[in-house]
Amino acid sequence: MGIQKVGIVGFGAMGSGIAQVCAAAGFDVLVRDVEQRFIDRGNERIAASLARVVKSGKLTEDEATAARSRIRGTLALADFGDRELVIEAVVEVLDAKKEVFGQLDAVCGPTTIFASNTSSLTIVEMAATTKRPDRFAGLHFFNPPVMMPLVEIVKAITTSEATVVALRDFVKRLGHTGVVSQDTTGFIVNRLLVPYINSAIRLFEQGGATADEIDQAIKLGLRHPMGPLELLDHVGIDVHYHVANVFFEEFKDANMAPPSLLRRMMLAGHLGVKTGKGIYEYDEKGKRKA
Ligand code: NAD
Repeated sequence: MGIQKVGIVGFGAMGSGIAQVCAAAGFDVLVRDVEQRFIDRGNERIAASLARVVKSGKLTEDEATAARSRIRGTLALADFGDRELVIEAVVEVLDAKKEVFGQLDAVCGPTTIFASNTSSLTIVEMAATTKRPDRFAGLHFFNPPVMMPLVEIVKAITTSEATVVALRDFVKRLGHTGVVSQDTTGFIVNRLLVPYINSAIRLFEQGGATADEIDQAIKLGLRHPMGPLELLDHVGIDVHYHVANVFFEEFKDANMAPPSLLRRMMLAGHLGVKTGKGIYEYDEKGKRKA
């Protein structure tokens, strides 16, 4: 029958999106965050997102109500005993994730599969701290999970083939597409994206072209919906800087190292859309100023 009961730890941007996708696909979903106000915020986010989905005609009002009724919140990881799959989506801090998995290991049955939604950490480093390194993998959703149909299923050197098969089936039942990646830093998408964005920043900082010209060239020449510098502003200068540093640590490859402009923008507080200024300038609604 496969997985029916899903647990999600961390009800932030990603956790709430993943919960919505799971509930809309018919799974029973239990979410955990550290304070009730974060659970309330996640529920509000899902209600607003489901209202948009209903408006677009992809779900009926009744289906959206049914999806919402499948999501329950808790503050206690002790409630996760009956979960068949637990997806962790807490902050991107290794020790925080290890602590969550340590507690889950004591609560969940031996067959429960654990998955991390980490973007940049190494899966085996978390798997090895649990008693189930064979039933541990990465499940990397993209933001926002409701709109982005890809999930990277990350196979650590300890992950069993049966776990990969179960996760492939799970992702398929979500209506998403799974691709299997080895546990190499950045998996597939970010491994290619980070040096690409770095190259665009270097081209810009060296005066090879203006930001607009770089973004226009990629949009029109490669049919990308967004150019690399616009994308950088949406991701956040701080987030990209952090990830590029993690990649450089791992690969010691100059293409992975954050360009010096990035660090200076970070120090200046020019973090992109969220602060109103990055490569471009934005109004309070996040719309680019002319
Ligand atoms: P977020 O800050 O929006 O949400 C994190 C949530 O985890 C918060 O609500 C926080 O209160 C909660 N939390 C912290 N410690 C907890 C604990 N011990 N137990 C339960 N909840 C806890 O972060 P996010 O953007 O949703 O990112 C979550 C994870 O997903 C990170 O590992 C991130 O790298 C990864 N990710 C993020 C994106 C993205 O674009 N935002 C994309 C893919 C993957």
